[in-house]
Amino acid sequence: MNSPALKTPVRRVVIAGGGTAGWMVAAALAKTMGPLLDIKLVESDEIGTVGVGEATIPSLQTFHSLLGIDERAFMAATQATFKLGIRFENWRQVGQHYFHGFGLTGKDHWTAGFQHFWLKGRQRQVAADYGAYALEAQAALQGRFAHLPEDSLQHNGLHYAYHLDATRYARFLRTFSEALGVQRIEGQIVQVVTDAPAGPISALHLDNGARVEGELFIDCTGFRALLIGDTLQVAYEDWSEWLFNDSAVAVQTESVADAVPYTRSIAHAFGWQWRIPLQHRVGNGLVYSSRFVADEEARHTLLAHLEGAPLTQPRQLRFTPGQRQQAWRHNCVAIGLAGGFLEPLESTSIYLIQRAIIRLLQMFPGAGAAVAAADVQEFNQQMRADFEHVRDFIILHYHVTQRQDSPYWQACRSMAVPAGLQHRINLFNQTARVFRTGGELFSENSWVQVMLGQGLLPAQHHAVAHLMGDNELSRFLAGLRAAVDHTVAQMPVHQAYVQRYAPSAGAP
Ligand SMILES: Cc1cc2nc3c(=O)[nH]c(=O)nc-3n(C[C@H](O)[C@H](O)[C@H](O)COP(=O)(O)OP(=O)(O)OC[C@H]3O[C@@H](n4cnc5c(N)ncnc54)[C@H](O)[C@@H]3O)c2cc1C
Repeated sequence: MNSPALKTPVRRVVIAGGGTAGWMVAAALAKTMGPLLDIKLVESDEIGTVGVGEATIPSLQTFHSLLGIDERAFMAATQATFKLGIRFENWRQVGQHYFHGFGLTGKDHWTAGFQHFWLKGRQRQVAADYGAYALEAQAALQGRFAHLPEDSLQHNGLHYAYHLDATRYARFLRTFSEALGVQRIEGQIVQVVTDAPAGPISALHLDNGARVEGELFIDCTGFRALLIGDTLQVAYEDWSEWLFNDSAVAVQTESVADAVPYTRSIAHAFGWQWRIPLQHRVGNGLVYSSRFVADEEARHTLLAHLEGAPLTQPRQLRFTPGQRQQAWRHNCVAIGLAGGFLEPLESTSIYLIQRAIIRLLQMFPGAGAAVAAADVQEFNQQMRADFEHVRDFIILHYHVTQRQDSPYWQACRSMAVPAGLQHRINLFNQTARVFRTGGELFSENSWVQVMLGQGLLPAQHHAVAHLMGDNELSRFLAGLRAAVDHTVAQMPVHQAYVQRYAPSAGAP
């Protein structure tokens, strides 16, 4: 690491690419460290963005509060709706559905999660569906939403995220970033200049002859990965032995019904279909494995399962599920699709972008200092842990299923999964226990909802649940359910709430 680019203190940051990742990086850097830096973003209108990525998870609220973004302004600008979770349809068996909601289910004891009490209730035939005790799931399925104060049911409020228009979101963040001094440069990157072959980067050459120099480069060029992949030759770790899906076809449709506050994930014989309702339209797509179905059949399946008239031509996307072996090499940090992509299930990609940005800010080179090798190593280790955790949670949905109706599902069921995931499955199967370690994204309740939803039924439950007599347990469960029902009954209809709270001006 003796190159000039790595000895110079970081002042000029060059962001390559202006999709969701590029503009999220620009906004956060400008807001947090703007006065110390010269931030430029290079993007090409001609190339465009991936144009999908419209379901989020609640952490986006944290990102927006860090930036001081007003929720109404953001929602109106991106034609956003609220999201309380995901309805999984036909995943465990054709015709069987479950809900993975944000927030909590029931009430935990400090020794044992709510699932232990629910399992005892189930044994005694006094328990309803697991989701009946979750506020977010019930509000979602009844199409209701409200901002609840933190001291309401479970003293926790209502946990939510957003469905948003990805193109509008990038535009919104662009306006935000430019107001904070970020300079946008239009043009195609035709050459990445390095000090030595695959060495630190010193400049980008554009097709219009411009040369953009910097000390730190953020690769947000999407699947192209121009800097981290093409130039620095950082290898890509392919996880398709566990994540079979490598393709998607996406299309936007007219809204034909009220927007529901949840994403629909509908399993098919060779993949799954998303339905994401926005204020002005619906985003649809089918994610599938090209090993199991031809593109033409996938496209046909998607078009046959749409609810409204298509507004766009179906768009084909191809990806390799996996992760860049190092997201940070020399003076280049890959964020967004350039750094890795698993698949759209559970909507974690924008979250992983956010995690990378927060980390970059936490590990930003010290005042007057250049990139430190120890920071690079730490960043890469932490990103890897995030990706692997999310990967395992996604694999769970495919592997634990009762579906056997196609070669795709048979292969999902019979594959060997990563050891850490296998242990989690065994632990839950035998004891109903789940533990969240480190900074893992998915909570115990997320794992429990999906494991039960996919058909695991633990052999035992915690002894502490036996301390409750039958009557007491019945009263406990009935009380929780009544509280959920009562709260939901008072909430307004989601569609009306959004129209009042953050109406958008309409189509672009
Ligand atoms: C099918 C599918 C569904 C998804 N669904 C979700 C979801 O529901 N939720 C979620 O969180 N994530 C989802 N994602 C991921 C999400 O779309 C991305 O994480 C997000 O859009 C960020 O993309 P990006 O900015 O890294 O790349 P892109 O949007 O591809 O942006 C790349 C940028 O680089 C620029 N660029 C490229 N080459 C050059 C060049 N030579 N010169 C100049 N500029 C260049 C482009 O013009 C563009 O501005 C999905 C992804 C796919 C494939």
